[in-house]
Amino acid sequence: MNVAIVGAGIAGLSTAWALNKAGHAVTLVEQAAAIPNPYAASGDQHRIIRRAYAGADGYARTITEAFAAWDELWTDLGQVHYKACGVMGISQIAGDEGEDYRDGLDRMGSPYALFEPAEAARRYPFLDPATFRYAYLSGEGGALFPARIAAGMVRLLRERGVTIREGAAVISVDPDSGALSFADGGRLAFDRIVVTAGAWTLRLLPELADALKTYRTGVVYLDPPDDLKPAWAAAPCIVDVGGTVDGYVLPAVDGTDLKLGAGVHKVPMAPDLDREPRPGEGEIIRDYFAPPFARIAEYGVKRVASCAYTFTADHKFLSRRTGRVLVVSACSGHGYKFGAAVGRRVAAAVESGDDAGLLAWLRAE
Ligand SMILES: Cc1cc2nc3c(=O)[nH]c(=O)nc-3n(C[C@H](O)[C@H](O)[C@H](O)COP(=O)(O)OP(=O)(O)OC[C@H]3O[C@@H](n4cnc5c(N)ncnc54)[C@H](O)[C@@H]3O)c2cc1C
Repeated sequence: MNVAIVGAGIAGLSTAWALNKAGHAVTLVEQAAAIPNPYAASGDQHRIIRRAYAGADGYARTITEAFAAWDELWTDLGQVHYKACGVMGISQIAGDEGEDYRDGLDRMGSPYALFEPAEAARRYPFLDPATFRYAYLSGEGGALFPARIAAGMVRLLRERGVTIREGAAVISVDPDSGALSFADGGRLAFDRIVVTAGAWTLRLLPELADALKTYRTGVVYLDPPDDLKPAWAAAPCIVDVGGTVDGYVLPAVDGTDLKLGAGVHKVPMAPDLDREPRPGEGEIIRDYFAPPFARIAEYGVKRVASCAYTFTADHKFLSRRTGRVLVVSACSGHGYKFGAAVGRRVAAAVESGDDAGLLAWLRAE
């Protein structure tokens, strides 16, 4: 089959990888001048992969397949873009998200080490032991490196004969003819089209507004106080800092920077609006993290990045097919870790036509 993929985030790159391996002619189209698009969800330094899921046990189980798919990709790339630094959770108040993630690990029978506040602060001196109930460390997971993965995949796909068109914005898709229309007036036709357009999906397919909502958020890269730098360089990812801010942390591992982000910071927004960091935005994001971090005002703001992404109402992933067009949205703020597995599954569904099977897998049912 002659297949076009619209959008070269991790879902599009992985689908191109898997379809190419299955012997199909693949054209991957990206609106940004270069892959990865720094304004897309997959353009960042690092993302967490973890077994810990709160209520969503189906996704916790699917992590086994996610790791297997990354392993297949590392073999093809000849390089591993993952650091198994472990994943920590923290609970500040009974029933907070930090506790929910721990309950999820218990349900999976997945082991972790549990630390009283004093012991946690001894191991991780950036924590203020007076502000939380407990911390726990799961050995299963760590940091994936999206920008490096994208660069490696673009190289591999080109070597393997995939046509990659950067700086090519698609303005419409025709489910009946399989034609893509481009902003420059060009038009190309394919047997199948896979749309993996991330936060821009509604611009191409506004009928999905019943299912997808687009948000803007921001993350802050911080320069920790000098005496805490060694602790941060050896720290695990933090899936949730507890309390009410839905805060997560990526440590400064493997040449990356310390990064903090919080669910409470996101607001509904179209993907191209308000992309410059707002004055003082870095300090606002940083300050969500005290508690449980000590000395937060001593952390310097290095950089703020705005991010655009989509959510479904139940935070499950989505696919929908009309004619020759299959749309896939694996986000709701937790899709990167499944990226390589999503690509393999989407490619299999393009071949088999099993749309219901794909949707059931994406929803981790
Ligand atoms: C702040 C933040 C933190 C996150 N943390 C985690 C985490 O720790 N772990 C985790 O698993 N997940 C996390 N996620 C979610 C994860 O990043 C996303 O699920 C994943 O990156 C989505 O990839 P995608 O390929 O679907 O979309 P995107 O990466 O957004 O890619 C879509 C691509 O399509 C291109 N495009 C769009 N429209 C067109 C068009 N018309 N023509 C041509 N090209 C087009 C875009 O330019 C873009 O490159 C996080 C997301 C955010 C925003």
